[in-house]
This record gives sequence, structure tokens and C-alpha cells, in this order.
Amino acid sequence: MKAFAYVNATNEKEALAALAKAERGRMLPMAGGMDLLGLMKDYIVSPERVVSIRNLDQTIASADGGLRIGAAVKIADLVEHAQARKMYPALITAAEDVGTPQIRNVGTVGGNIMQRPRCWYFRNEEFNCLKKGGSRCFAVEGENQYHAIFGDGPCHIVHPSSLAVPVIAYGGRFRVAGPNGAREIDAGQFFQMPDQNLYGETVLQPNEIVTHVLLPPPGQRSAAYEVRFKQSHDWPLAAAAVNLVMSGSTVKTARVVLGAVAPTPWRAQAAERVLAGKVITEAIATEAAGAALAGARAMSGNAYKIQIAKTAVKRAIMAVSRA
Ligand SMILES: Cc1cc2nc3c(=O)[nH]c(=O)nc-3n(C[C@H](O)[C@H](O)[C@H](O)COP(=O)(O)OP(=O)(O)OC[C@H]3O[C@@H](n4cnc5c(N)ncnc54)[C@H](O)[C@@H]3O)c2cc1C
Repeated sequence: MKAFAYVNATNEKEALAALAKAERGRMLPMAGGMDLLGLMKDYIVSPERVVSIRNLDQTIASADGGLRIGAAVKIADLVEHAQARKMYPALITAAEDVGTPQIRNVGTVGGNIMQRPRCWYFRNEEFNCLKKGGSRCFAVEGENQYHAIFGDGPCHIVHPSSLAVPVIAYGGRFRVAGPNGAREIDAGQFFQMPDQNLYGETVLQPNEIVTHVLLPPPGQRSAAYEVRFKQSHDWPLAAAAVNLVMSGSTVKTARVVLGAVAPTPWRAQAAERVLAGKVITEAIATEAAGAALAGARAMSGNAYKIQIAKTAVKRAIMAVSRA
């Protein structure tokens, strides 16, 4: 790992002051450090300074009928939060499934959302892939069993954050702060596809940080479902989160978001249209799952993900119907 200087910011103001001094990439924020230190050890990023932001807001509080979650909240603390558990079951299911207890005790909500993709070509310093300034995506002709089934490249990563998927399903926003002040961004507009931003994954400007996740009041029913390789602690192969506003037993409006299938969390509006105005039955859930995956395009080694993602959507919908 390249040597670096370390700044331990004790609050948001100090963190922003430290980050404001640096050129893009020269200084990076570190929360739990689990993802960042791995990237540094593998020479994928080599900041000259690391600013610890683990002392940013670590509280979860009521706000505007929903919740305001500090970026420095540990995933384990989110899982244990009684009000969050009651209001946002899809988020809690996703959080409970992140890694292992040790990982959830160190990993923060902000770090989880901002973690970099797990693509093994991106993470391996031997491969100068598109995302690192190279000329090709090695997944196209290489080992692509965990890569995207949506998005058409040119880089075929899948988005890694389990928490971002339900945050978008709930219509959440991110508060971000930087040298030019603070702003709020719709979580659904926060992540960018590779053709919009090849070297990063979000709309964050240089030296901005995520300070809070803002969740509006949820629909009456919500759930999430993930499919993993065995019962391992690894990232999911496919995930789905569903949030429904109900009128009696009929769905008024639906949000369906898929994870691990595209370079960003992937909203399935075709599935949402299937659900709107319906009473949920197994047949409707199957139809919605089919609609969600209708536009998927497999690479040479990941056709299996289409069926798995369908299953995730269908089971998330069926879980909602039992909620
Ligand atoms: C074995 C294993 C299994 C895992 N399984 C899962 C899983 O199933 N699902 C899942 O979602 N995750 C999974 N993770 C990822 C883990 O949850 C993340 O690595 C962790 O949440 C990162 O959090 P952190 O606080 O350590 O972030 P850090 O490592 O500190 O930061 C991660 C990145 O985000 C940036 N960053 C951090 N905080 C902010 C902020 N507030 N604003 C702007 N940028 C920021 C950093 O600069 C860095 O680039 C797994 C990790 C491991 C090791």
C-alpha cells in the first residue's frame, strides 16, 4: 500500500474542511474502512490523504414522518433500531443479510452505499480494465458469471450495495455535503451508468460526502429478498425490494427495484405497472417478475442470473403479500 497521511475529522465541518483542500482522488473519505483499505492494498486507489469520517452523525431520528439515518451509523445498529425495523422491513432484511456480524459491526450505512464494485477485473491490479482507464471490459470475453444482465456496458459491473436497493424502493434521498454546501439528491438519480460516468458510480462531486439517508414514510407493505451462493456471507447474486402503497387489498402504486443485476440499482417499472391496481396473487407475482426481467440480456456465463432475479422479485412480492 502506498503511504498516506491520515486526518481524523471529529465532525462534518472538520471533514469537509479537510476534503476541500484536495484535488479529486488525492484525498478520500474513510468510514469503516473495510472497502477502502482493500482498494488501497490492491493499488486500485492510492490517496495521499485519508479523512476518517466515522465520527459523522451516528444517529437515526424521526424526520417528516420518515427517518433520517446518519451516514456513520453502523449497519448493525440500523438492524437493531426498533423504529426502522417497524417502518422499513425491506431495508432491515437487506441490512441483516450484509456479510457477517463482524462486517455489519464495522461497515457504515454511508460506506455501504458508496462501496466500489466487486468486479474481479476492476479489483485486480493486473487488469487495466475500462474502469481504470484501459481500453476494454475484460468481462465481455472473460469470466462474467457475476456480471450485469442489464445496461449494455461498456463496463459490465453490478452495483454492490444491498442497502441502496430498498432505499430507492422507498423513494429515499441522500443528503450530501461539500465545499459548496449541502444538497439533497433523489436516491434514484444518485447512481450513474458507465456510459455517464465510467470512472465513478455516482453523481457526487469531488470532495462531497454523503451525510444522511432520508427516508419518506413507507408504503403500507414492503419486503426484500436476496438470492446468494449457498448461505454464504458473500454479496447477493440477485436481490429485489418492493414497496407498495395499498388501497385496501389492492395495490395503488408499486416500486420494484433489483440489485446485483446492473451497474446501478435497477428500477423495474414494467413490474410496477403489472402490480398497480391488482390484488397480489402468485400469478400476479409471477407476471410482475417476468416483466421485471423482460429486457435482460445475458453474457456468455450469466444467463442463470435471469431466472434467479425473477425468483428474487417474485419472492419479494409474495413476502409483501404475507406482510
Ligand atoms: C466478506 C464481505 C461480504 C460483504 N457482503 C456484503 C453484502 O452482502 N452486501 C453489501 O451491501 N455489502 C457487503 N459487504 C460490503 C460491506 O458492507 C462494505 O464494505 C461496507 O459497508 C463498507 O462500509 P465502510 O463503512 O467500511 O466503508 P469504507 O470502506 O470506509 O468506504 C467505502 C467507500 O466509500 C467511500 N465513502 C465511505 N463513506 C462515505 C460517505 N459518507 N460519503 C462518501 N463516500 C464515502 C470511501 O471513500 C470508499 O471509497 C461485504 C464486505 C465483505 C468484506
